[in-house]
Amino acid sequence: MDKQKKRRVDVDDTSTWIQYKRRLCNGCRALCCTMPVEATLADLVRMGVITAFEAGEPVKILTRKLKKDGMVERYSTKNKVFALVRFANNDCLYLEPESRKCGIYEKRPDTCRNYPIVGPRPGFCPFEEQ
Ligand code: SF4
Repeated sequence: MDKQKKRRVDVDDTSTWIQYKRRLCNGCRALCCTMPVEATLADLVRMGVITAFEAGEPVKILTRKLKKDGMVERYSTKNKVFALVRFANNDCLYLEPESRKCGIYEKRPDTCRNYPIVGPRPGFCPFEEQ
């Protein structure tokens, strides 16, 4: 019998997460990149999704355009952030399916940079081996 039972990880259940350590990301399935991702206007400019000029457009018009282009799901007027589009399996638009690495790592949104120091369970993450 296999004594090394695979740990069950549920990205929506933070009690199944483990404490984050440096280098834990190597060989992880990147379930963190299946959670909703918030992006500010500044993030979108850095990511090359919009130009600095477009960032000055009325947010309603910009949101409509970005939705049409399949880049964002919605805009929160309360928090002034966009929610990036995810694929049907919840993978982030920028998550490379084979390597499970971020395709825009150097330009990724601040919310990704600050994770998991800031997140649903600060200091913990839904680590799962690839
Ligand atoms: S932008 Fe990159 S780091 Fe952020 S959720 Fe998407 S794939 Fe992950």
